[in-house]
Amino acid sequence: MPLGRDYDRQDCAPARALEVLGERWTLLVLRDCFFGVRRFGDLRAHLDIPRAVLADRLATLVDAGVLERRPYAPGRDEYVLTADGLDLWPALFTLARWSDRLRVGPGGGGRRFRHADCPAGGADLTTGGLCPACGTLPPATSLETRSLDPDEDDGSRPERDDAVSRALRHPHRLVTPLP
Ligand SMILES: [Zn+2]
Repeated sequence: MPLGRDYDRQDCAPARALEVLGERWTLLVLRDCFFGVRRFGDLRAHLDIPRAVLADRLATLVDAGVLERRPYAPGRDEYVLTADGLDLWPALFTLARWSDRLRVGPGGGGRRFRHADCPAGGADLTTGGLCPACGTLPPATSLETRSLDPDEDDGSRPERDDAVSRALRHPHRLVTPLP
């Protein structure tokens, strides 16, 4: 189903962003793209998303210039974040942090993101996606993500066993393809 045109007459920037990002699943698809998931089958297996819905969300993101579709083998394509797509990282990080705070309180929540290329030694990102060690807003490509340390994990997340979930149990540089 194509996106509704409900926002067409809203001449404001949030409405234009919602036209691209506001559909159910879209932010999760983008999150996986930042993790380095690029292939349709991997996205499907990791997100448990219906095939037609995933195809629709990917097409919208490609049309909007957020993802680029490129062949990696004859007849097979993968989806890669464009420069405009990479710019969404601080917004995505902030949304995830916000929902973690509502759910489990300050300091809790999901994965950690560390400024791996930090000139000041690196630290886990804090509010707004800032690196507390160097004070900058690092691009996604200079970050490494890891799952919670065992003593931080409250066990509230069910362990998934698809290939993407397994790969993300180890520290991983954002945006680069998962092994
Ligand atoms: Zn830093």
